Amino acid sequence: MSKAIVSTLYDSDVFKMACRQFDKAADAISLPEAIRDRTKYPRRCLAVSLPVKRDDGSVTVFEGYRVQHNLSTGPAKGGIRFHEHVTLGEVGALAMWMSWKCSLVGLPYGGAKGGVIVDPSKLSETELEHLSRRYMQEMVNFIGPHTDVPAPDVGTNEKIMGWMMDTYSNHVGHISPAIVTGKPIAIGGSQGRREATGAGVAYLVKKYLADMKIPLSKTTVAIQGFGNVGSETALALANYGAKIIAISDYTGAFYNAKGIDLARALKYVRYQKVLRDFDGAEPITNEQLLELKCTVLVPAALERVITDKNAAKLKCRVLAEAANGPTTNAADKIIDARGDIELIPDVLCNSGGVIVSYFEWLQNLSNFYWSRDEVLTKLFGILDKAKDSVDAQQKKFQFSRRLAALTLGIQRVADAKAARGLFP
Ligand code: NAD
Repeated sequence: MSKAIVSTLYDSDVFKMACRQFDKAADAISLPEAIRDRTKYPRRCLAVSLPVKRDDGSVTVFEGYRVQHNLSTGPAKGGIRFHEHVTLGEVGALAMWMSWKCSLVGLPYGGAKGGVIVDPSKLSETELEHLSRRYMQEMVNFIGPHTDVPAPDVGTNEKIMGWMMDTYSNHVGHISPAIVTGKPIAIGGSQGRREATGAGVAYLVKKYLADMKIPLSKTTVAIQGFGNVGSETALALANYGAKIIAISDYTGAFYNAKGIDLARALKYVRYQKVLRDFDGAEPITNEQLLELKCTVLVPAALERVITDKNAAKLKCRVLAEAANGPTTNAADKIIDARGDIELIPDVLCNSGGVIVSYFEWLQNLSNFYWSRDEVLTKLFGILDKAKDSVDAQQKKFQFSRRLAALTLGIQRVADAKAARGLFP
């Protein structure tokens, strides 16, 4: 038996959190020692410096990363994050979670993630385009439609994916839409991709509420984060009949017991860029939002916001993890012990995004495009199957729902690695 000899390359609280989750799941399914470290640690990473010419003629060098956690089950897949607090450790943890997620929902993908240390709101549109193109230029030899396929994440969007696709296509000399997903529809994006993550979160929430016999008409929802995932989750849940009583972004949180007018909030954000000073609801803090009495709490921003400080104070019935890694391991223990909150774990809850990214990639590779109805019907079919498999695993082994989801995802990756064998 041997143990991995690892550096401090990914050292961070969030990477340690992902590793502890892995260890617990590996113990629960008695994963053989010989396959553990190979399954756990990222396969490879690339760190790049990105000089960008600013509008005033000066040059700023940004730092960016791409981590490919697993390539045993197919090309690696995962978003690119533009955020001022990105670290290699965070990108490593997010890549690891992508592996378990893709495997859990049965996609032929490994996990990856990318990131750049930047606050995109401080760049002009031209500077953002230069940075996005420069990042892709540096990635050209590391990624590819059959190696690693990026997508949007926090701070990136369709437009950025379009610039990246154009940069890669110019480099290889022909159009290569399958290099990224989450692109504009005009250049090979999929119908339904923009709303896919939120639509998937809302669909799973609806299914779990039905299991709990809670009618949607009596459901109140608080959502942290009003970007792509938070706003689309809000819209989809409101369409199902739920009342959205609180929303937030990094500038503040807003509460309205009668229900937030989402059309007004979306219009406000379109013009103001952020929710700051939104006048359609009462201002509260992001901490207060998490502790509001509501049926469903949806963290849809960053990692590690539900902690041992607030887990005992949550007053929701369902905790739907639209964000990746929003709940620390210590908070998980508290929630488990409380037993009164149904947790929909991130690897299941937000998997709608990568599922429709997979559909986009398939459409690009075959040059045959699907309707929105086809996309959503296929998405919900995969989510139904994934939910059933998690619920069955939970029941069979008396696991928490997170442990059930992680053990399924991890086991399939380990099986693929074992089946492929190891270069001597
Ligand atoms: P986004 O950049 O579109 O939105 C992020 C939102 O979070 C913004 O409203 C931002 O203001 C808010 N935010 C940031 N810091 C905050 C804080 N401290 N308190 C409150 N709000 C804060 O990003 P997104 O694509 O919506 O991603 C959100 C989460 O969902 C991330 O964890 C991401 O990894 C995960 N996710 C995204 C996708 C996708 O398809 N985009 C898929 C799966 C999972």
